[in-house]
Amino acid sequence: MTDISAESRGGGRNPVAPGAGRTVASAVPQSLISRLARGVTAGGVEGQNPDTVQTTAPLTGELLATLPRSTPADVETAFGLARRAQKAWAALPLRRRAAVLLRFHDLLLKRQDEVLDLVQAETGKSRLHAFDEVLAVVMVARYYGRTAPSLLRDRRRGGAIPVLTHTIEARRPKGVIGQISPWNYPLELSVGDALPAFAAGNGVVNKPDTQTALTALWARELLIEAGLPADLWQIVIGDGPVIGPAVVERADYVSFTGSTRTGREVAQQAAARLVGASLELGGKNAMLVLADADLDRAVDGAVRACFSSAGQLCVSVERLFVHRSVAEVFLAKFAERTRAMRLGGGLAYGAEMGSLSSERQLEVTVRHVEEAVKAGATVLAGGQARPELGPLFFEPTILDGVTPDMAVCTEETFGPVVSVYRFDTEDEAVTVANSTPYGLNSSVWTKDGRRGRAVAARLRTGTVNVNEGYAAAYGSVASPMGGMGDSGLGRRHGAEGILRYTEGQTIATQRLMPIAPAYGLDDAKFAMLLSKGLRAMKALGFK
Ligand code: NAD
Repeated sequence: MTDISAESRGGGRNPVAPGAGRTVASAVPQSLISRLARGVTAGGVEGQNPDTVQTTAPLTGELLATLPRSTPADVETAFGLARRAQKAWAALPLRRRAAVLLRFHDLLLKRQDEVLDLVQAETGKSRLHAFDEVLAVVMVARYYGRTAPSLLRDRRRGGAIPVLTHTIEARRPKGVIGQISPWNYPLELSVGDALPAFAAGNGVVNKPDTQTALTALWARELLIEAGLPADLWQIVIGDGPVIGPAVVERADYVSFTGSTRTGREVAQQAAARLVGASLELGGKNAMLVLADADLDRAVDGAVRACFSSAGQLCVSVERLFVHRSVAEVFLAKFAERTRAMRLGGGLAYGAEMGSLSSERQLEVTVRHVEEAVKAGATVLAGGQARPELGPLFFEPTILDGVTPDMAVCTEETFGPVVSVYRFDTEDEAVTVANSTPYGLNSSVWTKDGRRGRAVAARLRTGTVNVNEGYAAAYGSVASPMGGMGDSGLGRRHGAEGILRYTEGQTIATQRLMPIAPAYGLDDAKFAMLLSKGLRAMKALGFK
């Protein structure tokens, strides 16, 4: 690894947060793992002789869990079980289904410490960043628990011919949703995306990333405790390229979160089967600090936006654009604040950033930083791995002098690395921020809210946060979240986040007269009468 001198790092190493005294092994005992493992659909319904997969704890590199590995035949079994359970579930009144989400809301808040341990053990993130997941899921549970009955109820619509045609729009469940989730937000991207699917009357076959399967299995247990029929949510685990396609092959709709590369494959496979898919993919998110920004707030916001979950957050900021007039002051404060961030892997609150989650993420992070430094970039903070804290720790890192030929400028790092760029005009900042095939999230900082929203409207991303990095838009669960361009298709959250799991059905009942010449009317008179009727409908303001 390139040795980046203390001077070029801006001096000083990140301090270490005090440990918690609890080990991963004591927080996630074998008895818990064995219990959760029984929730995997593997080895046939009788659960005989499953092949196994192993996961390691990123914080220590130790073996974490041995779990049964599902086969494509198990995926078939999972769909069969979920389909049978779905029929009875869909027949329940909407309010009863929604009530399960509201009970889950309360249980999750009460039992959060159990899952915080699991999320930390499986991902290596700090406890505060693990809590972000609890927060997000609780908000989604409340939102759909409260709104699903009204979002999905039958609605009276204007009929073809007023009075004579009685029309309702109904929403039917798709059936069984195939849900494929990544490892970075294991609670939120498993159960969080499944909750609206259940509320809409579907079953779900979920393939979480193997590395973070325990969290999904725990969430399934809790949802069953809240009243979900056990067979309705099936969890299968195994190699992505084997089990993922087996799920897509059988799903009535696919909800995928992961990389753009895999998302393209999933979309093609779903398209060939003519089933719909929502794809929540990668990003290269930008933050714009305008000349009139409150710099102290922007610095704090940048720390959260760039380094939450060690940058392994789809909406985290990897490109930071600062107006030239404030760049010197902003960067001095940002670098100082970043160098002071407390790192640590304790299973307690206190660390401001934890570890990366896998060797692959550490390798990409190191490669992006080393290549950039070799090609002339300067390290304003961080820049080094911290193996004495754990095998996958890397310091929160700020790079200056990054140019478009460097991978870190254009490719998603998905690590704790941000590059800073200076701009002179708003137009220039918007143009450069938009010059990426991705379009997931962005952030604008200014004391003038109206100006912030005007800049936001020019940014090609599915969410834009004004005076916040990502949490304001992501936490606004009543409004859609997702990506433009290479960042995906479809949206989670809001009405779209539940309607995607339904089929619209129009039921129109014709009364008294057919929509055709009748009662002795000849065709010409019928056409004349209807033409008059259409003119009258427009004049009377019919839609
Ligand atoms: P990935 O695409 O490698 O894996 C995602 C999931 O797909 C895993 O469960 C994996 O096993 C499975 N998979 C792998 N190959 C498959 C195949 N051929 N068919 C079907 N499934 C397959 O992504 P990752 O590295 O685990 O996750 C990180 C990526 O996810 C980043 O790019 C990040 O930006 C993105 N992400 C996006 C969002 C969002 O909401 N937009 C949220 C979180 C993560």
